[in-house]
Amino acid sequence: MSKTTDNTPDKAPDEEASRPSSFIHDIIEEDRRTGKNDGRVQTRFPPEPNGYLHIGHAKSICLNFGLALEYGGKCNLRFDDTNPLKEEQEYIDSITTDVHWLGFDWEDRLFYASDYFGQLYEWAVQLIKAGKAYVDHLTADEIREYRGTLTEPGKESPYRNRSVEENLALFEQMKNGELEDGECVLRAKIDMVSPNLNMRDPVMYRILHAEHPRTGDKWCIYPMYDWAHGQSDSIEGITHSICTLEFEDHRPLYDWFVEQLGIHAPQQIEFARLNLTHTVLSKRRLIRLVKEGYVSGWDDPRMPTISGIRRRGYPPAAIRDFCDRIGVARANSTVDIQLLEHCVRQDLNLHAPRVMGVLDPLRVVIENYPDDLVEEMDAINNPEDPEMGARKVPFSKVLYIEREDFMEDPPKKFYRLAPGREVRLRYAYFITCTDVIKDENGEVIELRCTYDPETRGGDAPDGRRVKATLHWVSARHALEAEVRLYDHLFIDPFPAGDDLENELNPDSLEVLTHCYVEPSLADANHGDRFQFERQGYFNVDLDSTPENLVFNRTVPLRDTWAKIQQQAK
Ligand code: ATP
Ligand code: MG
Repeated sequence: MSKTTDNTPDKAPDEEASRPSSFIHDIIEEDRRTGKNDGRVQTRFPPEPNGYLHIGHAKSICLNFGLALEYGGKCNLRFDDTNPLKEEQEYIDSITTDVHWLGFDWEDRLFYASDYFGQLYEWAVQLIKAGKAYVDHLTADEIREYRGTLTEPGKESPYRNRSVEENLALFEQMKNGELEDGECVLRAKIDMVSPNLNMRDPVMYRILHAEHPRTGDKWCIYPMYDWAHGQSDSIEGITHSICTLEFEDHRPLYDWFVEQLGIHAPQQIEFARLNLTHTVLSKRRLIRLVKEGYVSGWDDPRMPTISGIRRRGYPPAAIRDFCDRIGVARANSTVDIQLLEHCVRQDLNLHAPRVMGVLDPLRVVIENYPDDLVEEMDAINNPEDPEMGARKVPFSKVLYIEREDFMEDPPKKFYRLAPGREVRLRYAYFITCTDVIKDENGEVIELRCTYDPETRGGDAPDGRRVKATLHWVSARHALEAEVRLYDHLFIDPFPAGDDLENELNPDSLEVLTHCYVEPSLADANHGDRFQFERQGYFNVDLDSTPENLVFNRTVPLRDTWAKIQQQAK
C-alpha cells in the first residue's frame, strides 16, 4: 500500500479562490502599492536552536514562507544562535528537518545570526564612537535596580558618561577575553527615563567565555537578542520582520538601532501567538516534559512538537490548512485543539487508504463455511478517491470482530450483532449469530454464526436488509499488532503547565496489544497512514517492526469539531 505523499504546499482547488487575508497582507499590499522596498517581499523564520519546533512555530513558518510564496518573494531560515549555553546542534538538525517536512524550502538561504558576529561588533564600535553606547561595570542586579519600573523612572549608571576612548578600549578588552564573565556589559545609551523600559539603556553585549557550536572560541562576547535580531534582519534585506506580540514593546528599540546605524530598516510587525487548548507551547515547559521523563521524548506522539505530531500521523498539509484557517490577528486567543484534529481528519479522509483492523477481538466461527476455503473479497481503498483502487481481503471460517459490536442482551438502540440477529460483514457476507460461548467466568469468548452464501459482496438478492455493517479480519490471515491510543496530555483546557504532577492527564496513553489487522498491512512502512474502518486514522509508528507491528491512533473518526460547527448553525 502506498504512502500518502503530501510535501508540497499546493492548495486544494476550492481553497485557491479564497486567498488568505489579514492585517499583515494589508500592510504588504499597501507597501507594494507605494513601491516601498521596490515592491520586494522578504521574510524570515528565525528560530533559536534551543528546543524542538512546535505547532506554534508552524503558524509562524506558514505565515512567513506563505507570504513570500504569495507575493513572489523569499523567506530565509535564520538560526538566532546568540546563546551558546542553551543551543545545540541536535536542535538545529531537528528544526531544518521540521521546516522541510512542513513543505517549505529556504533554498540557499540558510543563515545564522553568528555569521554576523563580525559585522555586529563593527556596528557596536560605530555606536560607541557616536557616543551611543558605553561599557557599564554595574552588576546584573544593579542594572536591574537602576532600570526602575513601569511607574518609576530609571537612574543613570555612574559609568554612563565614560569617554569614547575609554569605552573603545574596554570593549576591545571585552572582545579579547581579557575580562571575566559578568564583569561588565556594553549598553546602548538611549534614555533612562523612557516610559518604555526597553529603551532604558538596554544591554547589547555580555561577556561569556563559552564555546559556540559554530564560532567555537572565537568570541567571548555575545550579542543580546535585541541587538542581534534587527541587525540580522537588516543585513538580509528583510522587508517585513514578523514576530509575536511580546515584541511589540521592543519595536522602538528595533527601529532605534537601524536608524542610528543608518542601515536598511525592515518593518517589524507583531501578531498573536498560537495557543491551543489542552496544550502548552512554551519551550521551557516542553523541555521539562522531555527532561523529566513525563513523555518518551521530543517526538512522543502526545507532544505538540512538529516531530511529535509527525510521529502521531498528522499530515503536513493538514497543519498548513490549520494555519490558514486560524489566520493571523493582533489579539491573543486560544484555539480549540479540535479544530486541528478536524483538519487532520479532513486530509486523511481524502488520502488515507481504508483497511480493517480489530482492536478488541472477539472470535467468530462461521459454522456452515467450509473448513479450508479462503475467499478473496474485493475491498475499496478509498470511497473518496476511486483512483486509489481496490484490494483483496481474505475471508475464512474463523474471524475476529470488534468485541463492542456484539451484545448478548442488547438494549433498544443497539443494532449490531446479538443472538439470533443478522448483520453484514463489510465486503463479505451476511452472518447470523446462533450461539454464544463463554468461559468459566461467564465472559463471552466466541460466537457461533452461520452465513448466507447468497450475500457474497454484502448484498442480499432478495432485498432483505440488515441494520449494521461490521469490520472483521480473518483469524488465519490477520497480523497481530500493538495499537497506541492517545488523549490530551493536559486535562485542563487551559493548563498553566507548571504543576506537571497534577496537570498531566494520567490516561493520555493507552496501549492495546493483541489487536488484529488485515494482511495487506504487512508491507506498510513507518509513517504510512490508514483509516481503520469505523475506528479512526492510524499510522505505523517508528517502533514498528515486521515481527511486532505498532500503530498510533492519529485521531478517532468521531469529529466533535464538525458537530460543534453544525450546532452553531
Ligand atoms: P524562546 O522563549 O526560546 O524565545 P520561542 O517560542 O519564542 O521561545 P523562537 O525560536 O524564538 O522560540 O521562535 C521562532 C519564531 O517562532 C519566533 O518568530 C516566534 O515569535 C515564533 N513563535 C514561537 N512560538 C509561537 C507561537 N506559539 N505562535 C506563533 N509563533 C510563535
Ligand atoms: Mg523567541
